Amino acid sequence: MSRFLPLFLVGLAAAQLTSGTGPVAAQQPAAGRTPDFDALAEETTRRLAEYLRIRTVNPPGNETAGARWLQHVLRGEGIESEIFESSPGRGNLYARLRGNGKRRPIVLLSHIDVVPATASAWKVAPWAGKIHDGQVWGRGALDMKGMAIVELMTLIALERRGVPLSRDIILIANADEETGSTGAEWFAREKSELIRDAEFLINEGGSNQLGRDGKIEYYGVAVTEKLPYWLRLTVRGSPGHGSIPRPDNAAARLARALGRIAGHETPLQVTPPAAQFFRDLSTRESDPQRRRWLADPARALREPEGRRFFTSNLYFNALLRNTISVTVMQGSNKTNVIPPEASAELDVRLLPGTAPATFLAELRRVIADTTVEITPLRPDREASTSPLRGPLIDAIRETVQAMDPGALITTPMLAGYTDSYYYRALGIGAYGLDPFRVTEAEDQTVHGNDERVSLANIRFGVEFFYRVVERVAR
Ligand SMILES: [Zn+2]
Repeated sequence: MSRFLPLFLVGLAAAQLTSGTGPVAAQQPAAGRTPDFDALAEETTRRLAEYLRIRTVNPPGNETAGARWLQHVLRGEGIESEIFESSPGRGNLYARLRGNGKRRPIVLLSHIDVVPATASAWKVAPWAGKIHDGQVWGRGALDMKGMAIVELMTLIALERRGVPLSRDIILIANADEETGSTGAEWFAREKSELIRDAEFLINEGGSNQLGRDGKIEYYGVAVTEKLPYWLRLTVRGSPGHGSIPRPDNAAARLARALGRIAGHETPLQVTPPAAQFFRDLSTRESDPQRRRWLADPARALREPEGRRFFTSNLYFNALLRNTISVTVMQGSNKTNVIPPEASAELDVRLLPGTAPATFLAELRRVIADTTVEITPLRPDREASTSPLRGPLIDAIRETVQAMDPGALITTPMLAGYTDSYYYRALGIGAYGLDPFRVTEAEDQTVHGNDERVSLANIRFGVEFFYRVVERVAR
């Protein structure tokens, strides 16, 4: 997934880890209350470098190679796993660490595929898995092989230490998140019996927001996300020569429809997760006016200034309404030819609780032209929201308080979209949680050039995830 929040630059403390490609660190002793996190971080770093070297670029994905590598690492720890291909070469990995069954399982989810990279534009080769300058470099370091290895090492550390578990811990790595989520969709449909008993799931989509001063503003645990509802608009008319204009010119009709759409303001609505997120932010806001607006967004939206405050922030705006971005446009490819058909595509994102049919009726009213055909490019679905409270949120809260005392924890909505949707639809409480606290500069490398994760982030992330999972699964 691509991140969406403006992050500000921060100088993280230099990592103490050494680089290299030596053998994996020795197994940790079971004694002591907590693992040796420095050693675990070093091992996580080396494993990540190895994982980054496996090319799972989507397309074509080739995730089975990544799944086999994960299986090999797990087998070395005596943990069995299975690989299921959703289509040839598109492997999905499943492993389960058994607890005593008193409570329902937790799933640690990741995707194996990564987006392409233009090697010539990178400072460090994107497929080399190099550790350089206090960072692990490579396509997928942040999205999301880094988090996947943090999840893997959390599972392995719990197994090695023989931690008594009250719930099973399930590890799933899916294929094809980046181009269509077909791996997660297939897995949730065809292998639902393997996960139907799960209570929670941790996936990408969290946002640990850093402020301008480089200090953490909040740890964001995503509880829901907006749902893509992509649409194609098609207009047909009589073709002809551009020198003889016609009233039923398809391109002109489409342009008029797009103009009306671009000028339309979708209604502002405050969903429960958005209200909670803004309320949480209000507790840290020093400006009294802004604090008042954030504490009661529904009321603020009735005042012109309050409305401006929310809608001028692009992220806040996206959390408060269904959005429409005009993206693809096609008409004639010759200046002097009136095309028989013109089409456009809209990237529509719906808030949880909006039925696609309701939105479509609104759009038809706005276009006000029955010759414009509207075709959904994705199935009609509705986003759901995971509970804003519960044992997993509590475990995250307690862990953050222990590792970063006084920090704010909140439960935002994701404007983007992840595989979590398919698992939420099964009734599993799915949460976006980021193990890392990345700077704006690092964040821009996601789907860009020079993607990397700092050793300091790996050190923090592996302890953070281990503590959260141990707390909720002990
Ligand atoms: Zn991703």
